[in-house]
Formats: sequence, structure tokens, C-alpha cells
Amino acid sequence: MEAMETPFERELEVLVRARYPLLYVVTPEERRAEELVRLTANRLQKRLHIWTLTRGYEPPLPLPPEGERRERLSPEIEALTMLFRPYENAVLLLKDFHPYLNDARVIRLLRDLSPRLHSSGRTLILLSPLLKLPSELEKELTVLEMPLPSREEIAHKLREILLMLRDKPGVQTEVPPDEFEELVQAAQGLTMEEIENVCARSIVEHRQLKAGVILTEKQQIVRKSGVLEYYAAQERLEDIGGLDVLKEWLRKRRAAFSEQAREFGLPTPKGVLLLGVQGCGKSLTAKAIANLWGLPMLRFDVGRVFGSLVGASEANMRLAIRTAEAVAPCILWIDELEKAFSGVQSSSMSDAGTTARVFATFLTWLQEKKAPVFVVATANDVSLLPPELLRKGRFDEIFFLDLPTESEREQIFAIHLRKRKRDPAQFNLKQLAQVTKGFSGAEIEQVIIGALFTAFDAGRDLTTDDLLAEIKATVPLSVMMREEIDELRTWAQLRARPASQCPHS
Ligand code: ATP
Repeated sequence: MEAMETPFERELEVLVRARYPLLYVVTPEERRAEELVRLTANRLQKRLHIWTLTRGYEPPLPLPPEGERRERLSPEIEALTMLFRPYENAVLLLKDFHPYLNDARVIRLLRDLSPRLHSSGRTLILLSPLLKLPSELEKELTVLEMPLPSREEIAHKLREILLMLRDKPGVQTEVPPDEFEELVQAAQGLTMEEIENVCARSIVEHRQLKAGVILTEKQQIVRKSGVLEYYAAQERLEDIGGLDVLKEWLRKRRAAFSEQAREFGLPTPKGVLLLGVQGCGKSLTAKAIANLWGLPMLRFDVGRVFGSLVGASEANMRLAIRTAEAVAPCILWIDELEKAFSGVQSSSMSDAGTTARVFATFLTWLQEKKAPVFVVATANDVSLLPPELLRKGRFDEIFFLDLPTESEREQIFAIHLRKRKRDPAQFNLKQLAQVTKGFSGAEIEQVIIGALFTAFDAGRDLTTDDLLAEIKATVPLSVMMREEIDELRTWAQLRARPASQCPHS
């Protein structure tokens, strides 16, 4: 099957043709990148030499003329000094060279080499899973990020696999178009190597390619990324009491990622920020969106982005973004956003600017992302939120979730009683709602659970009186945190849209 040219290859080809001397390709997929570089070099009729620390250049570069003094140099220095000899028309691919980029000699050599490479039609490519660029080289090096395989590339690969298996007895290689589409979708977000491996496994286990097998593998891999996690959301919009404005907003955007919406001229929604009092349904709403829109939900643990290795944090953030985009359309849920980026202001002092850089990468992505990844972020404490996050263009809307109003509390009682197999009509919901001013949804749920224990212990069924007694014994958080909540409300009045029709009085 004929190989197809990807946008990455096209860009690479343009740069090599234009004699860009120094490129830096970032990707976790070394083998695929090497293949693409090889194809590009072939197309441009350039020789390809691949360098590794253990084996030097393969094939070797031409030897120095007889009699030239050969100093003993460390391998990484030698890899560069060798390139000062005249040699034309080549692509030099250096694998895992990033650990040496901090060395002043390496930096100097690369800068000196740059014009020579250019004039001799050679391009030196650093290939690495991490981007570790010293500022001295920022101008010299062009950074290229190799995206994960696109839908087309995956389809191409799957067709190739099926074709190869055609003569294998007992293997089902005829796949109807809709099932094929499912396979492609299931494989999005995986590297080519992972796709090959999971396909091999599916064939061994089931004698056919199964989307289910690919999906389980993908969950594994997304988990292994360490920063993203598949979240199987059970919650539905009906499980949320109140918050009618927010619910309506979400309902309206239900089909926003469909082809029809795009044809109609609607922009794809970017995301929503849910701010509010603890226990008032922020996380609950985030989870319900995934179900309402029928999209997979990835939970993004930003705290885990910050690795202990230098440069790893930025690479982790990029990996998370790339994985989310590859799984798209999907929901990306970030819980407690303020905690994730609370160190931004002091970052230059505390961590040499790492938090600030990671934050900047995230912000830029929020602003410019084209892929249908809907970001749902939640936050309790606005004082810790970097103000840049709240600027126009980052989120479609910022909602404020206040403590539930009386009628909302009534709904929340009904929802949680029903959840615990009780008929709400058997309880005095009005009275319950009246006496729970200042209770959050989470506290109402706790009241019901507490009262259920009392009733169970007494050997009878739950009554309104059990609930009332439990309410009496509860001091809601809003009493202790009155000032904080008032502050939050004042703040939100100016900057956020209330999630409920009739805001708290
Ligand atoms: P936190 O800031 O503490 O994470 P949160 O606003 O994210 O709070 P949730 O985790 O969504 O709060 O709420 C906790 C639980 O309280 C929910 O799982 C749900 O059972 C219940 N709850 C909260 N608000 C509501 C609501 N409006 N309707 C129904 N249940 C609710």
C-alpha cells in the first residue's frame, strides 16, 4: 500500500528543502519519527545518518583524511565536531541528544555548525521525547512537534494490517464500513506502535480487530500517561437539583460537536468554568455533561503534570494536550483548577518559572485550540485563580454555583431520596427545604444518609422526623464560612453568570 504524506512530513520536507540547519523534533514515537525522516530524506535524495550515544553514526560518516590528528573526545562532542568536515546533502538524525544541550561546548558547537550545515545542504535533527531547549539555542533551532497519528493515518494503518492478514486462515478481515469507523475512532489517541500492538493482541485473542479491545488498551495507555484518566461518568442531568440556567446552557449545546452544528455555522464550544461554594454540584455537573453530550470524559490531574525531572513538566502538559486532542471529541475535566496553578505568580522564585511556563502552555492552548475538546474546570477559591484564566476567550462562560435556594433544596431532597429508593411524596419536602437554609447539596445528601442510619438502627423506615432531627444536629459549612462565601458572591456578581435563575437572597 502506498505511503501517504502527513502534514508533519510536509512541514519537515519544506524545512529540509529550505536548508534549515537545526531542527528539534519532539515526540514519544521515536520509530515512527525515524521512518518519516527516512522517507523525507529519500524523497529529497539526501543521505540519512542516524546517531545514537551507543553506536555513533549509522551508516558511519566518511572518515577523516589519513594523518589528521584524532583527539579523544566524548561521543556527543565528537558527533558534532565530525560535522565540520566537508560533506554535502545529508540529514543527520541525533537520537536522545537532549541531555547534552546544557553543555556550553555543545551549545557553542551547534551555533558554529549552523551556517556550515546550511551552506552544505545538511539538516541536523534532534529527536527526543522531551523538549529541553536552552535559551541560547532558541533562535537557532526550529522545534517541530510530531502529532499522534491522525484519523487518516490510523485508517491507513488498519487497512494495511487487514490486508496483511488476508490469507491467514480463520481471521476475519472483512470489516463493514461502520465497524471500521469504530475501530479508527477507538484507536485515536494511541501511538502507531501501540496501535500495532493492540491490533496484534486483538487478532490473537479474537481472530479479528475489535474496537472493544482497542478501547480497553486505550484506557490503560491514557492512564499510563500519568496525567489523564478515563472517567466513566454515571451522573445525568436529572441527578442535579436546581442550577436551571446552567443546565439549559448545557442542553442547548448538546449537539454542538455534530457535523450538522458545524454546517449550521456554530463554533465548537471551548469550555466552561464552574466556580462556587463547596458541595454545590460543580463536580456533579462536570460529570453529567459527559453523559448529556455522549462524549468520553478525561480527568486531567494537573498536579501530576509537575514532574521531578527538569523539562518533564512541560512535556507532560504537551502530552496531556496531545492525548486529549487525539481522543477528541471529548470532555476534559479539571477539578480544583485554582490548586493546579496557584503557584504561577511566585513561580520565578520557587521553581525557576516551571509553573508559569506550564500555565502559559495551557492558556495558549485554551485560547487557540481547534480540536473539539470541551474543557470543564471547577474551582472553589477565586483568590488563588490566576486572573489570566478569567479573560474573555478562554472559556465560553463562567458560572457561579451558589448555595441552593429553597425550591432547589426541595428538588435535591427529592433526588437523593429517590436515589435511596424512597418515594419523595411520602416526605414533607417543603418543610425540609425551609429548615435547611444555608445547606449545600452535599450536606443535604449527608442529612439523608445520617437519617437512614438512625431509622435502620431503630428498625423502622425513614420518616420526615428522622430527617428533621438530623438537620438540627448539622451545622452547615456556610455558617462557619460565612465571610468567605459572601466575598465569593460579591466577586462572582461582577464576573460570573449565576447558575440558577433566582440567585440567593
Ligand atoms: P467541592 O468543591 O467540594 O468538590 P462540588 O461543588 O464539586 O464541591 P460535588 O462534588 O458536585 O460538589 O457535590 C458533592 C455531592 O453532593 C454530589 O455528588 C451530589 O451527590 C451532592 N450534590 C451537590 N449539589 C447537588 C445538586 N445541586 N443536586 C443534587 N445533588 C447535589
